[in-house]
Order: sequence, then C-alpha cells, then structure tokens
Amino acid sequence: MATNRLPGDNCERDWIWEREIEAAPWEETRRLSVAAWERQYRRIRESSPFYARKFREAGAGNSFVSLADLSQLPFTTKQELKEALDDDPPFGSNLCVSPDQVKRVYQTSGTSGSPSVLALTRGDMETWTIMGTRTYYATGIHEHSSVLTTFGAGPFVAGHTHFVLLRIGSRSVPVAPGDTERVIFGLRSGLADTLLSTASFAQFLANRLEQTDAEPSAIPLTHVVTGGEPGGGIPSIRDHIQRVLGVTVTEVMGIGDIAPSLFGECTHQQGMHFCGGGHVWVELIDPETREPIEIETGAEGELAYTTLTREAMPVVRFLGGDIVRIEGTECECGRTSFRQRVLGRRDDMFIVRGVNVYPAAILAVVGDFRPRVTGRARVIREGPETSIEPPIPVEVEVTERHESDGALVTEIENAIHSKLMFRSKVELVPESEFGEAGYKTRLTVRR
Ligand SMILES: [Zn+2]
Repeated sequence: MATNRLPGDNCERDWIWEREIEAAPWEETRRLSVAAWERQYRRIRESSPFYARKFREAGAGNSFVSLADLSQLPFTTKQELKEALDDDPPFGSNLCVSPDQVKRVYQTSGTSGSPSVLALTRGDMETWTIMGTRTYYATGIHEHSSVLTTFGAGPFVAGHTHFVLLRIGSRSVPVAPGDTERVIFGLRSGLADTLLSTASFAQFLANRLEQTDAEPSAIPLTHVVTGGEPGGGIPSIRDHIQRVLGVTVTEVMGIGDIAPSLFGECTHQQGMHFCGGGHVWVELIDPETREPIEIETGAEGELAYTTLTREAMPVVRFLGGDIVRIEGTECECGRTSFRQRVLGRRDDMFIVRGVNVYPAAILAVVGDFRPRVTGRARVIREGPETSIEPPIPVEVEVTERHESDGALVTEIENAIHSKLMFRSKVELVPESEFGEAGYKTRLTVRR
C-alpha cells in the first residue's frame, strides 16, 4: 500500500500520485474538488458564451453556485454540446481558451450524423493521463506489466490510453483493433501478459481459442482488462473469459466527453472505482425525476459529470447516459472512492409491464448457454416507444451447428422468462451473420 502523500494547494499538479495512487481520504478529495470548482466556475462564466447563457437562464447570472448547490445549475446534454459546436466552428461557443492553446482534437461520436469535436489543451491531456493512470493502476496494470492493447490511436478517445501506459511505465504492445492474428501471435509468443480490449473482443478471443487450442489457458496471459462497453462486469461473460484463458478480468470505463478512463476496477473485482477525484465531480441522478440521489451502496441512477479542471471545453452536469449501481464506498484495496457497476445505457432501457430492463441483463442469461451460443445477444426494437409489450424480440448469436436448434430457442426463452420475468421471442443468428466481433456489440438494434 502506498503512503498517503497528501497534495498541497495546487490541485492540478500536486494531485498526481503517478504510480502510487492509492487511498486519498475521500474528505480530502472533496476539499480539493471544492477549491477547484471555485476557480473553474469563474473561468467558465467569463470564458464560455455557451455556459454564460445557460447559467443566466438558470437564474445564476452573477452569483457563485457551490458544488453543494450544483443542482441549481442545469444539466448539459450531448445534443447541446453539439449545438454549441455548430454555433461557432470549428471549436464552438464553449471553447474557453484561444484556439492556439488547443493541442489535441478528437472527433467523438455525435448524437446523429456528423461527429462531435473535443478539443484539449496540454493541461487537459495531462489531466486525462493522471486519471487514466489511476484507473489502469487500480486494475492491476503496473510497471512490470506487458500490455497488448487493441485500442486505436484515434479517432476515439481511447487512444489516450497509450499515454497512460507510458506514464505507468508498463511495456506496451499496440495492435490495431480487430487484428485478431496479431493479438493471438503476441499472446502466444509471450510479448504480453495483459490484454486491453473490449469485452466483446475478449469474449470472441476466448471462444476462438477454446475451439483451436487444446489448452488455451496455457497461453502466458494472466490479466484481461475490458473497456468500452459493459461485459467485463457481467458474471457469465467474465467467468467464461477467466476460465478459458486462465486470467483475471477487471474492467475500466470512460466517457467520451469527460475522460477516456475514469473508473477502474481493482483486483478484488467488486466494481469500478471512481478515479477522477479532484478533476471530475460526479453526481448520481434519478433517471425519472432528474433529482440527485445520495451516492451510497445499492443506489442506482444515471451519472452526471462536472469537469473541475478542464481548460478548453469544460462541462457542467453532463448527462453521460450510463445507469449504474453503487457497489460500495470503501474497499479492501484501500481506495476510498465509490465503486460502481454499469447496468446499461439510458437509451437502451425499455420497460416491460412497468419494470425497467437493460439489455445487458439478457446477456447475463444467454451466456449460460455456452458453448451452443457465443455469448452475444441483442434486443430488436421496433418503433420509438420505451414501454414495450412482450414477447420482446431478441437475437442470440450461435455457433453454426446450432443455427436451427429449436430446443435451444425454447430453453433460452424459458430462462429469460424465469430470470427476467418477461416473455421473449428468440431468434438464433449464426456468427457469420451477427456482425463484426472484433470491437463492440450493440445491445439494441432499432428496426
Ligand atoms: Zn478496490
């Protein structure tokens, strides 16, 4: 366990606990966050026409709104950030620095059609590296680790992970997303002991090695860190990857508009620790009423983020769309930040007879039918309604031999009915038709 090096006044720089980022008392984090927000609030009001207007409209024109009173300020949606961008291209009306201070630009996925743009200063990149270092260090990636990463350098923000691995001091073996042959060669030959990938890819790799290798767990891989989608935290998916590959699975999570790595699960595997203390402020929001909920064990809600130290494009109360469950607020590893597990995306949620359902719950059921299924599944949604009548159409990916296995259909439908309490209409889809397994799996398809 690291010694507690308490940071001084300078939140941005002294708060770097590079390789030894362990248990800061939560109260200390809160104190730093309060101080950072005072500076940030003034800067935003003076430099961001976008937020100056939003604050004015919320009746907080000239007065200071403290972190404790943050709920007086309006939320920010992805749609609004995109509109701010279109107002004044290329960086938009929420740019709080001069354009020559922008040193890195990511094109993130937009709400519809054209991409959104995220501009970063050198300071912003450093802050991402700090939070990313805490995140990956928490997962168990340390200086001695050799990490094969399948996250591309861009256009998505996950590319920042390469800076993080450099900071931690681990060996890095970058492979292009979906380049399965190089991944397998690299792992077989012992270039890496750790794999960084989406849960879908790790699952695909486990399925494949299970078919081709007599003893896949003999490959010198010991640790898989999944990110980019839920899955690493779903027991049926995690257990399968762990069992086949003989590894420990931990997961990370980031939010494109906030930071590529913000939550990291430690090797106790009890949910992802919040790793953005002092730089990002998190609120838990009731998805129905939009009221804040206390962050305590068992609470469920949507996460909203406020950047405390972001220079170029700060955001206030940004609704990230992820619904999470708080798993705890302390941990055997010594970290004092809360732990969470993602239940699903707000947009993917549907209601069956008054009960909220996230497609990830279906994955958890379907995974039990390996090896007849691959572990991937998705819900088919027709029409815009959130409340839908059963049977719910579900597509389940199967190995080619089980393409027309009528008994399997019935078994899965019965399992969904008994575990999730709604009727489904399962369609088996062979691997060749389900779509690319190398990256992420979309849990909902709208037709
Ligand atoms: Zn822990």
